[in-house]
Amino acid sequence: MSTLEIRDLHVEVETESGPKEILRGVDLTVNSNETHAIMGPNGSGKSTLAYSIAGHPKYTVTQGQVLLDGEDVLEMAVDERARAGLFLAMQYPVEVPGVSMSNFLRSAATATRGEAPKVRHWVKEVKGAMSDLEIDPAFAERSVNEGFSGGEKKRHEVLQMALLKPKFAVLDETDSGLDVDALRVVSKGVNEYKAQSDVGILLITHYTRILRYISADRVHVFVNGRVAESGGPELADELEENGYVRFLGAAESSK
Ligand code: ADP
Ligand code: MG
Ligand code: MG
Repeated sequence: MSTLEIRDLHVEVETESGPKEILRGVDLTVNSNETHAIMGPNGSGKSTLAYSIAGHPKYTVTQGQVLLDGEDVLEMAVDERARAGLFLAMQYPVEVPGVSMSNFLRSAATATRGEAPKVRHWVKEVKGAMSDLEIDPAFAERSVNEGFSGGEKKRHEVLQMALLKPKFAVLDETDSGLDVDALRVVSKGVNEYKAQSDVGILLITHYTRILRYISADRVHVFVNGRVAESGGPELADELEENGYVRFLGAAESSK
């Protein structure tokens, strides 16, 4: 079993008016085979948490720890984090003109696995994963995310996860901008990878809708740069009904 442990994480970002603290003491532990939903209003720092775990250079950790099976993730370079088994599906996936999806996926798999996948096996693997995610095979030769619709980009993120087989995946608003059909396909892809692996998932979302498709063991309400409350799936139902008002009030008065 693996454990991803975030302890008292404080992160700041450089803005025009100087550094600004976005994460203000995040505590969170995810084990293998667990799915944790992180739910919070816009601007609460959810993507900052995702980027900080992945090692985005814009975000500076000023305090706290991220440990993967006790190993200090914050000491690792971005590619080392991927090799250690961490994966981030970005809220806004980047376009990479001139690099085909097929080449991109193979390079990424080579980098994370430490050796190039055998061609025949790899072709089969990619085809299978693309078909599971109902991605047209013609996409393999298209530039990464260039001109992709929102739904196509999200499918591509899940395709990467299925092929890179991380120990822990952070899925940042993988549901946003998806219609019901795309949401069903993307969720099916995530659930299939969950079923065939021991992956631990941090499912960041703004809406409760995706939790009807991907079940969460734990739900964390994220407000103002920290976890305001944690609970079981029933907490998502409460959010669906009442929104974040109760938590926003608490965050204001604890400032
Ligand atoms: P969420 O994903 O919950 O919507 P974000 O992590 O994207 O929240 O943003 C949290 C806060 O940090 C927001 O106020 C946002 O404007 C600010 N922020 C995040 N990244 C940057 C950045 N690169 N430069 C300036 N401000 C940022
Ligand atoms: Mg975000
Ligand atoms: Mg599993």
